[in-house]
Amino acid sequence: MRDIIFFALLIIALSYLSFEIYRRIRYIRLGRPEACSDQRLARWKYFCQSVFLQKKIAEYPLPGLLHGFLMWGFIVIMLSSVDMAAKAVFGTTIAFLEQPWFLAIRDLFILLMLTGVLGFTARRIWLKYFRQNWFHSSVKTYAILLLIFFITTSELTYFTADALLMENLLPGAWLVAAFARGLSPLGATAIGMLMEISWWLHYLTIFTILLVIPKSRHLHLVFAPFNVYWRSLRAKGSLHPDFEPASGTPGRSGNGVKDFTRKQLLDTFSCVLCGRCHRECPPERSKEWLKPKKINGFIRTYLEEEGQQLLNNQPSVKMAGGLFDYDFIWNCTTCGGCNEACPVNVDHLSKIIDMRRSIVAEEEHIPPAMQEFFNNVEQTGNPIGRTPQPGQDNNGAGAPEFPSISEKPGAEYLLFAGCLGNFDGPTQKAATALAKILRLAGVDYALSGGEAWCCGETARRMGNERLFKKTARRNIAGWQKYGVRKIITLCPHCFNTIKNEYPELGGYYEVLPHAAFLAGLLRQGRLQITRPRDTAVTYHDPCYLGRYNDIFAQPRQVLQAAGAHLIEMPKSKKLSFCCGAGGGRFWTRAEKENRVSTNRAKEALATEADLVVTACPYCRTIFAEKTEQLKPGQMAVLDIAQFLLEATLEPRR
Ligand code: SF4
Ligand code: SF4
Repeated sequence: MRDIIFFALLIIALSYLSFEIYRRIRYIRLGRPEACSDQRLARWKYFCQSVFLQKKIAEYPLPGLLHGFLMWGFIVIMLSSVDMAAKAVFGTTIAFLEQPWFLAIRDLFILLMLTGVLGFTARRIWLKYFRQNWFHSSVKTYAILLLIFFITTSELTYFTADALLMENLLPGAWLVAAFARGLSPLGATAIGMLMEISWWLHYLTIFTILLVIPKSRHLHLVFAPFNVYWRSLRAKGSLHPDFEPASGTPGRSGNGVKDFTRKQLLDTFSCVLCGRCHRECPPERSKEWLKPKKINGFIRTYLEEEGQQLLNNQPSVKMAGGLFDYDFIWNCTTCGGCNEACPVNVDHLSKIIDMRRSIVAEEEHIPPAMQEFFNNVEQTGNPIGRTPQPGQDNNGAGAPEFPSISEKPGAEYLLFAGCLGNFDGPTQKAATALAKILRLAGVDYALSGGEAWCCGETARRMGNERLFKKTARRNIAGWQKYGVRKIITLCPHCFNTIKNEYPELGGYYEVLPHAAFLAGLLRQGRLQITRPRDTAVTYHDPCYLGRYNDIFAQPRQVLQAAGAHLIEMPKSKKLSFCCGAGGGRFWTRAEKENRVSTNRAKEALATEADLVVTACPYCRTIFAEKTEQLKPGQMAVLDIAQFLLEATLEPRR
């Protein structure tokens, strides 16, 4: 009878789980197919590191370790469960599961799993009630931890009772042996009952978990490994191209859930709800309306509720302006913090960008400042709307004595100062400082000047793929004319786009951000520090230099060489917070409050450094505005080139 009940429950639980998984696979397949099975070796390597070795999760050491205990422990305990079932149902054992080495490992993982369950419970209570309000733990989460506790302890008591009844303590089972010493005073009847109860508790709990999985965060056990394997292998800073419909017309085909790719929909069922993306999202932490975790949550809930109708060809609700309101979509600074933090490779940003592309394609609900940006770039090639004057195309540094590429074609390096470097007064000073340093170090360079158009980065991140391609292609054609091979950039946004996104349009260059190039000049001894600054400096990592392109050390080397005493902000390097200017928000800051900028400026001011130095014109401008607003006169703001120049050439102020 026991066997019949066991198999009946097993079949019910597995059938239900399979059906629920199949249902979700059908919803995922509503999305557009996307080629993501290339480079198999690289994918498997990352998969093993991420899934089996828990590398990404371990970036947060304590939860990473606890999660490792549970994941590895679950595999071991499930293997052992097969032995329990074989013994009770078929009266046999599986030889390798009774080997001393396996029993020793099993007992170790029983202990580690219990540590994991207790550790996670304590951490959740601690974070929820004493530390952070972002951390959400539902009753379901605690219930699952309780179920894991039951599975683990019931296995331990089952094997202990079995050993006592059979009077056969197997070698290697050290925890069972210790437990057996405690339970040995019980009589045979009590031990027999304990064994029976443990067995049923064990399997009923497993069946319950199988039934609960589809409705809980533990669905990630099924989908997350696939999500990790099929993650994007593009460079971190390279956005996916816009979808081109079969007709060949560039642009989004629509604004529905089916316009996302299958990988984007798979994301939504893979999310663990760990909240790391929230924690690294500057708008979310600054109490603006943007919650990266909800991007998955909203789409997942919509698919769960309406998936069947969608399969029956019912039209989808609008994503941009329907499931997600416009503010939610435009508040993203594209800093990449969420993607970087996610342990299961959920790509939040690609969905935001796709929704922006839909908005731009529909030509409605574009913030006025962004529309002005598009119009200016279309008409003049730069967002400021300034028409470069003929014969003055070396205005990049604001100093006519520096050569432009049209005057000096074939120069070894093109100095691409970007739109702010070309036309914005304070940034022109940074461009001039950089040009002076290059001249001082004897670098063979020429300025791009006003002849080059905007690199297209911001247009692309605002969702205007067509404009990005237009400006990028124009620049590539222009540089081809002058034989440009190597480019030094003043702005990390230009750097990232020219380095990571121009190659898809045929533009292949060696691209060097000025902070890294300056570090190289110092290393080679081509610059001498004659007047070290001896100043307390806090350095802000621009997202597109640091997080997207892993350039953290070189700017700090430059600053320290120039005499800076570095004071790090609490959030720096890979976990640095955005200044609030990315994703087009630099250009909308006048029409909409930017709490992200205020937040970051406060963090800089709290260091009590004399100076905040950065290596990005957007960041520098934001810090200059916000620090002055918050604490007038307390903190100066400089570009790294200006700081270095004052230590090498310029007289001290
Ligand atoms: S890219 Fe940055 S701002 Fe945008 S959702 Fe992710 S963490 Fe938030
Ligand atoms: S999307 Fe990733 S980081 Fe965010 S909650 Fe889900 S699993 Fe965690």
